[in-house]
Amino acid sequence: MLLRHTTALEIDRKALTINPAKTCQPVGAMYAALGIHGCLPHSHGSQGCCAYHRSALSRHFKEPVMAATSSFSEGSSVFGGSANLVQAIETIFTVYKPDVIAVHTTCLSETIGDDLNQIVSKAYEDGLIPEGKQVIYCNTPSYVGTHVTGYSNQVAAMVKFFSTATPKKKNVINLVAGWMEPSDMREIKRLASVMEARTIMFPDMTGVLDTPLDGHYKMFPDGGTTISDLCATGDSKFTLGLGAYSTEDACIKLENKCKVKFEMLDIPIGLKATDRFLMSLSRHANLPIPDSLSDERGRLIDMIADNAKYLYGKRVALWGDPDTLIPLTEFLVSLDMRPVYIVSGTPGKPFTERMQEILKDIPEAKYMCGETADMFRMHQWIKQEGVDLLIGNTYGKYIARDEDTPFVRFGFPIADRPGHNFFAKTGYEGATNLVIQFLNAFLDHKDRTCPEEKVEWQM
Ligand code: SF4
Repeated sequence: MLLRHTTALEIDRKALTINPAKTCQPVGAMYAALGIHGCLPHSHGSQGCCAYHRSALSRHFKEPVMAATSSFSEGSSVFGGSANLVQAIETIFTVYKPDVIAVHTTCLSETIGDDLNQIVSKAYEDGLIPEGKQVIYCNTPSYVGTHVTGYSNQVAAMVKFFSTATPKKKNVINLVAGWMEPSDMREIKRLASVMEARTIMFPDMTGVLDTPLDGHYKMFPDGGTTISDLCATGDSKFTLGLGAYSTEDACIKLENKCKVKFEMLDIPIGLKATDRFLMSLSRHANLPIPDSLSDERGRLIDMIADNAKYLYGKRVALWGDPDTLIPLTEFLVSLDMRPVYIVSGTPGKPFTERMQEILKDIPEAKYMCGETADMFRMHQWIKQEGVDLLIGNTYGKYIARDEDTPFVRFGFPIADRPGHNFFAKTGYEGATNLVIQFLNAFLDHKDRTCPEEKVEWQM
């Protein structure tokens, strides 16, 4: 009984978060920066912040995550970290030789009021940034927003510093990737290549956080969006933003800066969101959807039909980031399941509006986002009336254990299970993976808890 003090009775609270369903802004900025080829993320703040952000990512991806820090001391905490950052830029380009340094701030440097624009300009003036190399930056004060906001800010910075419009427009579609696994990005790129669409995905963590082990250490792996591709996004004919919370700012910036129009889509998780993604890509790239993708869709539907009896009417609780929760909830509804409790620590009106629309036929559904939409509240709702399945990050394991409820890990962070970064959740095949995980969770639980004479029935 790890959470034995959780009560079913909810008390109105405004200034207290218990077990938040989010983490801090720079984690997102650091993750996004890793999606640029040859980039070293840099945390402008104390060593402790950087160590935490790196470890949050390393525990999830089971890969070493490289990042530098301005290493604030007592002096820089009082007088500002300008000198530290200028020194860091010089040292990093001399010792580690990245193509790009992507700086993000922390609570401390934001509270001091360090001006990144002025500091980086000084580094340029002092000749500390070698020819052809770049320093980009974004502000990520963690006392507002969440890791999703930090991700969004860093992606918008990529547009601000790189995207360039030339007179030569190209028949290319930009895919601005919201926060998802490298495996999910790989699947989206596969779908686009099956359609023979020319695309630029950014950021792109494939080949960065899922590199093969070949005995040779590379500080900067082969993957990531190259600088030339980032610059070329300004010449593309259209942009698809995948996940409004993490990509809309970048899409708006790109339209304003380079006149590349965009459409906001959900991350293609589940049947309908994948349909919308492929139809939109087909429309804007002016290419047909090939039969092989229709077959993948058909196999998913067959699989759902074969197992509908196990899915129908199951009550589900889920938590995580709005960009993944929205299409996932829609998918659960299309499986005839009942997503009844949904929380996201990331605030924003679109979450509420989309949930209203998706859950209109599930009157008992409760959903909430923002500071007090936390795991404690989620547990309280479950105490009031239980659910059949939990879907969310690692921190749900305490609830799963206390309530003996089947649990599928999904989202960020997942520190206690492998596989999430190998098997995509996007596309029709990703949706099939998800349904298999739901079914296995139900059936494992049933095998474990049903009377002995009924064990055979599960076959
Ligand atoms: S001090 Fe701020 S930036 Fe640093 S780890 Fe804490 S919340 Fe994150």
